[in-house]
Amino acid sequence: MRSVTVLGASGSIGQSTLDVIRRHPERFSVYALTANRRVDDMVRLCLEFRPRFAVMADPKAAEQLAVRLPDDGVTDVLAGEAGLCQVAAAPEVDTVMAAIVGAAGLPPTLAAANAGKRVLLANKEALVMSGQMFMDAVARSGAELLPIDSEHNAIFQCLPSDRMRDLKGAGVRRILLTASGGPFRTFSREALRDVTPAQACAHPNWSMGQKISVDSASLMNKGLELIEACWLFDTRPEMVEVHIHPESIIHSMVDYVDGSVLAQLGSPDMRTPIANGLAWPERIDAGVKPLDLFALGQFNFERPDLERFPCLRLAAEAFEAGGTAPAVLNAANEVAVAAFLNGKLRFTAIPVMIERTLACMTTEAADDFDGLFAKDREARCKAQEQLPKIAV
Ligand code: NDP
Repeated sequence: MRSVTVLGASGSIGQSTLDVIRRHPERFSVYALTANRRVDDMVRLCLEFRPRFAVMADPKAAEQLAVRLPDDGVTDVLAGEAGLCQVAAAPEVDTVMAAIVGAAGLPPTLAAANAGKRVLLANKEALVMSGQMFMDAVARSGAELLPIDSEHNAIFQCLPSDRMRDLKGAGVRRILLTASGGPFRTFSREALRDVTPAQACAHPNWSMGQKISVDSASLMNKGLELIEACWLFDTRPEMVEVHIHPESIIHSMVDYVDGSVLAQLGSPDMRTPIANGLAWPERIDAGVKPLDLFALGQFNFERPDLERFPCLRLAAEAFEAGGTAPAVLNAANEVAVAAFLNGKLRFTAIPVMIERTLACMTTEAADDFDGLFAKDREARCKAQEQLPKIAV
């Protein structure tokens, strides 16, 4: 029986995780569920899964949740970052689903890594921000880091399990990272200027949270994933080639020196990589419908257009620049995406804000996590300062 903490339980990945867990009560028990503000969802989930702890990052939401849960001693309610870190590192837990969106997920994900847990990593921003420091924490504690992002989980499945960080030894020539291209794949540069948040969030293949939907539309998601792949598989951007594959059926591929290309295919449903991570090395039913290749008929591939979608280029450059450049990129992107979703920034201004933020900051490596968080805060302030200068 695996005891699981689900960070970000009220979100898209959190709900899919709980759906897989629900199907296997003999294998998994829920130790803790966490969210930020969505109290209604947490009441429902706590009544169903009866976790030992429920954590709300927002203290007011924690008070509301505590009032609404039955006073039967089953679930204690905690608040804030300390509560998140406590349930990620608790000795009773062996598996932590890291599915908080954005930089806010780094402290509890790191707490899980430091405590040597099986960390199921969906929260790519945590790894993009902290890179080497996070991988060092994993190596020190002996934590088991398993990728949940569908592309990285596909690559993981196509690699020999003992060679995940030894691509050369495994005979890998390249990683072929697939991307759907998002809802605006065929839009002209002019048409991109006027796209709305509702359009950006209507992904053609995947149903996801708002932030990652906008990232998918701008190709920043692929940029963050490029960086994520470099850290997870100990490789360089030139070894990772992005292929736009609009059908989202091939989730990524590994090209070997003997000419073999191994791919992982499946319906675009996050329960597949989640089930893979939860049960690894075993396979369990994820509730995902079987793939019907006859109905699909054909697969297509295109090169990404870095002129219309500069975020992918900016992410690759930030990784090359090293130091805290990826953390600054990530923070500026979070500010830009929030501004776009609030109707304060054009879609095409997202890369402009990121580029200007990077240009006005120094990005030397941080000495420690405190230094990294300070750089993250500074980048958010600088990005906010750009807002009135960019918005039209
Ligand atoms: P959602 O927006 O659907 O959910 C985000 C979760 O994080 C919610 O539980 C939310 O709580 C919580 N949260 C938000 N802000 C904070 C905060 N400041 N402190 C603590 N918790 C917070 O996101 P997704 O599930 O789509 O994505 C989660 C992560 O997984 C992201 O990093 C994303 O890139 C990654 N991912 C997602 C995929 C998908 O298909 N959705 C695919 C691959 C990766 P509340 O509900 O209360 O706001």
